[in-house]
Amino acid sequence: MKEISEWRLMNDEAHTQTIAQIQGTKTTHDCILCGQPAYCGVEDGKQECWCFELAKRDTSGLPKGQCVCRACLSGLPLLQA
Ligand SMILES: [Zn+2]
Repeated sequence: MKEISEWRLMNDEAHTQTIAQIQGTKTTHDCILCGQPAYCGVEDGKQECWCFELAKRDTSGLPKGQCVCRACLSGLPLLQA
């Protein structure tokens, strides 16, 4: 029972964080393209970022190591394999 309640707590926490990232209430930097507040999991000290779960975009025209917001990333051309 202890494990189950802990798992539920972690899930709620992750859920809350995801909502905060989508709504823009939790941000780490400003998007380099549009200047809107954006969130990067890596900049937040995490191993992962939400962008890892999306199809790879061609970010070759952007400064290295800088993230853009969800809206701008989805507007970039898909990276050709
Ligand atoms: Zn943007």
